[in-house]
Amino acid sequence: MLSEFKKKRSRLQTYTWLGLPLVVIGGWFYPKLGYILLGCMVGAIAVAVYKGRAWCDWMCPRGSFYDLFIQKISRNRKVPEFFRKKATRIAMLTILLSVLGSQIYIHWGDWNAVGLAMVTILTVTTIVGIMLGVIYQQRIWCHVCPMGTIGNWISEGKMPLSIENTCVNCKICSKVCPMQLNPYEFKANGVMGDNDCIKCATCTVACPKKALHFDDAKNVELTDIKKAA
Ligand code: SF4
Ligand code: SF4
Repeated sequence: MLSEFKKKRSRLQTYTWLGLPLVVIGGWFYPKLGYILLGCMVGAIAVAVYKGRAWCDWMCPRGSFYDLFIQKISRNRKVPEFFRKKATRIAMLTILLSVLGSQIYIHWGDWNAVGLAMVTILTVTTIVGIMLGVIYQQRIWCHVCPMGTIGNWISEGKMPLSIENTCVNCKICSKVCPMQLNPYEFKANGVMGDNDCIKCATCTVACPKKALHFDDAKNVELTDIKKAA
């Protein structure tokens, strides 16, 4: 069941990760491909309005790339608290949006140069994410990604993950979570209180007590997987 679910998730990611090389390689030959980055930014925010950080699960090409490829070579260590701190995330958001904004301002009217600036930003941040992903854990970049941070802020109360009191604190949910979150810690609240949940549903499938679930369309998807398994 869990392996079937993971296969389905990987299949979805297989379609989207190709957007990453399209921009970070193709963009150096055809800079206007850099504008795809703007599409991803709008997509991440639009999805966050309704489903929290669900974009980061399989729709984000870079997140998919990290799960599909970097996970295999990552040392899979705990993400240092520094990367989860609000100050770190705000600093990263400010730096990257300032760089992007200033490049658009400087090159305004030269649309190839603006596109190339976006390609450069995506290339540099992806390389940093790969290095950190190998050293720590594949999704470490997702903790400081500017779109992830904005998604985190918008996510409050969107598509909540419920935790039943049948939970026995086995912590399996924590072990399978690609974001290294701890759903079981929110048992007393009954609802996951960490907005960095990317709604991947891996924990809901892995939980031996079926204590975790989403109360919306995600459950319909999971039912389909159960039938197919
Ligand atoms: S896997 Fe299920 S039972 Fe185990 S700690 Fe997580 S929520 Fe609780
Ligand atoms: S808490 Fe569960 S649904 Fe959220 S990111 Fe972790 S494994 Fe996925």
